[in-house]
Amino acid sequence: MRAVAVLLGDGADVGILSRDAQGETVLRVFSGVTIMNSAVFLWPEFLQDVRSDGKLVTRCIRGRNCGALMLQSSELGSEQTILAYDVNQLDAAEHAEEIASLARMYSNQIKLLDYSELDSLTRLLNRKTFDETFDRLLTVSSTDMPDDDFDDRRSSPDMGSQAWLCVVDVDHFKRVNDSFGHLFGDEVLLRMGKLMRKTFRGADRLFRFGGEEFVVILNAETEALASTGFNRFRESVESHEFPQVGKVTCSIGFTAVSNIDVPTDVVGRADEALYYAKEHGRNQVCCYESLVAAGAIAKAKAVEAAVDEDFDIDALFG
Ligand code: GH3
Ligand code: MG
Ligand code: MG
Repeated sequence: MRAVAVLLGDGADVGILSRDAQGETVLRVFSGVTIMNSAVFLWPEFLQDVRSDGKLVTRCIRGRNCGALMLQSSELGSEQTILAYDVNQLDAAEHAEEIASLARMYSNQIKLLDYSELDSLTRLLNRKTFDETFDRLLTVSSTDMPDDDFDDRRSSPDMGSQAWLCVVDVDHFKRVNDSFGHLFGDEVLLRMGKLMRKTFRGADRLFRFGGEEFVVILNAETEALASTGFNRFRESVESHEFPQVGKVTCSIGFTAVSNIDVPTDVVGRADEALYYAKEHGRNQVCCYESLVAAGAIAKAKAVEAAVDEDFDIDALFG
């Protein structure tokens, strides 16, 4: 944006606006004296004319010359990003070519970022993004919980909300590959990703963790509500007709995430619950905390060792 502001000169106002799927437009950043704040209200028809083809649209609004074009959006969000400016009496199309070049550079940057953060097959977030952003993920989870089974009475995400992490693993996936080949195996993974996007909410974080394993982080007030959410996905996989392959199921293990948790511990607990689900018939969702409470699995070994007063470290090396 700064580059465009420099290009257009001192008298120009420049802003970056974002437009959500419902068409609501908000000003993100701006430079100049700025009439950009009022632009959102004064320019609705003009901004509506800005298309995703990246073409610059110009117009004279209330005696001032304005220009706007759509920038590349990240695949990570559903928002459109619009660069808009006001050059007062100057020609709004004068620097069209330079602005187009800057927009292309911006587009390349966004694509590079997406490329490094997304899994190339499913376009879900990748493992690297999980490791690098785990701490932040826990604070930006779900704010909208619109669906029937979920409790949506909460007005703020911080009011007693709890983060949950699940690991999803496709059942007998080797058989899929062995019977139908890797290409159909990949098609199953691709559709799993699509089903995830359809089943979970926009604020939930979806990852392909590698191979045929996926991770989801969501916010829910209770274990039962989290379980409902994960089960809904399990059921959507179970009822999906995969091309050629037919029916596929998956098993899911999940655990509560606290804000002092480290990623490996959280994934380790969810993995234990997943292992239990696999050992006890597959195609089911198991919760680590419930399994521990029921005595079905032992509490994490590291925790046990720490509380064991007779623990003798020398004996380990003796
Ligand atoms: P289980 O129900 O116990 O999970 O059985 P499984 O056969 O799914 O066992 P496991 O999870 O250990 O096997 C994973 C298999 O997934 C191994 C590998 O052949 C296959 N796989 C891993 N990554 C990919 C991929 O990117 N594409 C395809 N087509 N197959 C993959
Ligand atoms: Mg596996
Ligand atoms: Mg598997």
